[in-house]
Amino acid sequence: MFCRIVAGEIPATMVRETPTTLAFRDIDPKAPVHVLVIPKEHYADVATLAQGDSALAGEVLATAAAVAEDEGLLGDGFRLMFNTGTYGGQEVFHAHAHLLGGAPLGPMLARSVA
Ligand code: AMP
Repeated sequence: MFCRIVAGEIPATMVRETPTTLAFRDIDPKAPVHVLVIPKEHYADVATLAQGDSALAGEVLATAAAVAEDEGLLGDGFRLMFNTGTYGGQEVFHAHAHLLGGAPLGPMLARSVA
């Protein structure tokens, strides 16, 4: 699915592009700022990305930080999250970071699962 955004076959609201990464607004935002940051190259999730190309994983983080700065999130803070696999609630199997901010985000999980 996100490969089709990289290919320009599906429209997205881009906020930043680098030679290796893309950042675009989530279609169903969960916070005032909700941006997805992806590697252009396909990796199914953050674990395969980090193990397959750690430099590219770092570029995803650097793009997320640049977007956080552009969106004015550095002062009050933000959350950067990679849902991974079934227990992680991942729905789209192209590695992506959720950059969330613009309001207090509350606890990390809606309820404890411990
Ligand atoms: P995850 O559960 O971590 O896999 O999150 C997938 C995210 O992708 C969700 O927050 C969706 O709202 C978002 N999403 C799905 N399709 C699109 C799309 N075409 N453009 C932007 N965001 C999308």
